[in-house]
Amino acid sequence: MSAITPTQEQSVVESVPKRLLIGGEWREASGGGTLAVEDPSTGAALCEVADATPQDAMAALDEACAAQADWAATPPRERGEILRRTYERVVARADELALLMTLEMGKPVAESRAEVLYAADFLRWFSEEAVRIEGRWATAPAGGMRMLTMRQPVGPCLLITPWNFPLAMGARKIGPAVAAGCTMVVKPAKLTPLSMLALAEIMQDAGLPGGVLNVVTSRSASATTGPLIDDPRLRKLSFTGSTEVGRQLMAQASRHVLRLSMELGGNAPFVVFDDADVDAAVEGAMVAKMRNIGEACTAANRFHVHASVADAFTEKLAARMGALKVGRGVEDGVQVGPLIDDDQRGKVAALVDDALGRGATAVVGGSALDGRGHFYAPTVLAGVPGDASLLREEIFGPVAPVVTFTDEDEAIAAANRTEFGLVAYVFTRDLDRAIRVVERLETGMVGLNQGLVSNAAAPFGGVKQSGFGREGGVEGIDEYLSVKYAAIRVG
Ligand code: NAP
Repeated sequence: MSAITPTQEQSVVESVPKRLLIGGEWREASGGGTLAVEDPSTGAALCEVADATPQDAMAALDEACAAQADWAATPPRERGEILRRTYERVVARADELALLMTLEMGKPVAESRAEVLYAADFLRWFSEEAVRIEGRWATAPAGGMRMLTMRQPVGPCLLITPWNFPLAMGARKIGPAVAAGCTMVVKPAKLTPLSMLALAEIMQDAGLPGGVLNVVTSRSASATTGPLIDDPRLRKLSFTGSTEVGRQLMAQASRHVLRLSMELGGNAPFVVFDDADVDAAVEGAMVAKMRNIGEACTAANRFHVHASVADAFTEKLAARMGALKVGRGVEDGVQVGPLIDDDQRGKVAALVDDALGRGATAVVGGSALDGRGHFYAPTVLAGVPGDASLLREEIFGPVAPVVTFTDEDEAIAAANRTEFGLVAYVFTRDLDRAIRVVERLETGMVGLNQGLVSNAAAPFGGVKQSGFGREGGVEGIDEYLSVKYAAIRVG
């Protein structure tokens, strides 16, 4: 691929709508305000987007409510075809969308491209699911009565997404909502609104009727979404983000007993048994740790490695991590971009300092990188003591702490010692052990001998404080459907 020029960078940013999408029209914020979007690799402002007021958010909900009945009555095939056309357009524009994503979020362009295709896959998957919303017909066990079961769109939804996967986290909510016949208001993270605005424009061009998808970008998430959650016309909130904010939203949503999907934080254990293929485990670790610069809910947060292979694993992992090229995601050959902002880099640095202070050793990395942008060196820590904070907290950065174990029960107990339960990774060549361990892990997903679980055809989601609800798979559309049953008397 030829080098990306500043003119190309400017042109993709210029091509994105910067206003609010309400009722099929792009509008300025009613208060006239804007908020700046920055490039995390330089700290420079990329552009300004509209800063919605609470009144704008309410106008978006009004439009979603007004569009709901017609949209629910739109033939499923038509809803699916709109998603299919969007999928094709997103894929056709993957390079441009990848560059846009890298500029606002920081990850290398090749990784952004992978996210664009991953996001597109949800649109394709749910274009296929739109026509498979089925019900049941049964005779009551005692005879006489018949039971008709149907699944209907839940109604207007509020979709709140985080900055770490600016397109995919939205696509895996919008895809099933559109397929199910729900209308929606989307609130992307203020740090990365551009990818979502670009997707919304593509969906409009693909024929999505006005009011079905409304997008409000805003400096104050709580001020804009709060009144919507308090409005009884809203029927569903789907949130991806931190457990802390998820908890607040659940409390708020209890007022109207709002239907919820919560995709929250993680603290994924990566367990390597003594019978594992160590090279394959290192390969898997690179993906599980370094995808998205470590800023993924699915990121391997702690490596539990059998004492007999810990030195070999740590040495090989450190060699691979230390060889990674760090830099602006738009530059050729760069494998690790900046962290999203200085707060995030500060949190990562504090967690590493805490571990070092308690006796861990930095085999590679261990500090922030000088210069502009929020860069942190890929880091492997050995000899991490059990009380180090980074074993309990989500690191969200390129840091791999290694701890050892000596038997299977100890490994499982350590892996489950967290309030989170999103995903775990296990490396073993013993089939019996693999099945035992997969069954005993308290997570919604397991990567067995591989470091990646994400797939549009699979149910993504957690247990414990990682949340509830599933995105993707045949399960994903259920989040946007209500079951109704009719009892029918037959004489
Ligand atoms: P966050 O701070 O919880 O923010 C997520 C979204 O919620 C953003 O759009 C944010 O808006 C909004 N928000 C923040 N406070 C709010 C409030 N009081 N009311 C309504 N909305 C509010 O999380 P983040 O830092 O963006 O994302 C990282 C977290 O997301 C990590 O914990 C990660 O594990 C989790 N995550 C989970 C999954 C999953 O599928 N389980 C996937 C990806 C990420 P602003 O940003 O505009 O303030």
